[in-house]
Amino acid sequence: MTRKHDLVIIGQGSAAFAAAIKADELGVSTALIGTNETKGTLLGGTCVNVGCVPSKNLLTVGVSYYDSIREPFGAIRYGKTKLDFKRAMAEKDALVRKFRREKYAEVLKGLHNVEHISGEGRFVSRDEVKVGRRTIKAKKFLIAVTGGDAGACTIDDAQSASEVVSAAVASAESGAWVKVPPVPGARYGGEPTVTSGQAG
Ligand SMILES: Cc1cc2nc3c(=O)[nH]c(=O)nc-3n(C[C@H](O)[C@H](O)[C@H](O)COP(=O)(O)OP(=O)(O)OC[C@H]3O[C@@H](n4cnc5c(N)ncnc54)[C@H](O)[C@@H]3O)c2cc1C
Repeated sequence: MTRKHDLVIIGQGSAAFAAAIKADELGVSTALIGTNETKGTLLGGTCVNVGCVPSKNLLTVGVSYYDSIREPFGAIRYGKTKLDFKRAMAEKDALVRKFRREKYAEVLKGLHNVEHISGEGRFVSRDEVKVGRRTIKAKKFLIAVTGGDAGACTIDDAQSASEVVSAAVASAESGAWVKVPPVPGARYGGEPTVTSGQAG
């Protein structure tokens, strides 16, 4: 079965969502393709599941606990502190679930021009991506699977594709290195459009 969209976004992390929200605003018919389980990440990608959110939550727990033992401020009367690590992890998991629901799952429901397709996207031609048994044909592709586990190659290493837009690539001005996401079957070339810079 082949479906047609104007835009295919591969990835379902923060970069993919930012693009999907904008595409929806502009009325662009979009397919958002994301694996549900890649190295432990779910809808929302690295940041909400295994990156920014859980790490900052656990770091804050750690700092609070450490301060309570170290008693750095004379103005605070510290009491006996006990750390329940199991509970800290459960609270962190609950926060991640809440953010994933509120910031991603519910946002997705409101994007009426965006079809979410669960699974790994694989390029099978210049303008087609396969997800399981479905083929999605589009005019433009945005690869937003970089983040924590980007592959890298130089633009010169690239072969050809109609138009591949990488959402999170190394600064174009700095020249040589562009992070190329590890999307199976993708061939990069022509003039990749840098939509936002991220130090590589
Ligand atoms: C521990 C940690 C802490 C961090 N803390 C911060 C912080 O405090 N502040 C900050 O700004 N940044 C932080 N980051 C970085 C931040 O998490 C990433 O920069 C950000 O999540 C990248 O988002 P992304 O959308 O580019 O990619 P990701 O969120 O990684 O999303 C990519 C998605 O694409 C999916 N995918 C991969 N291949 C395919 C395919 N072929 N087909 C379909 N889907 C595919 C993956 O399963 C994943 O869901 C942290 C990262 C880590 C690891």
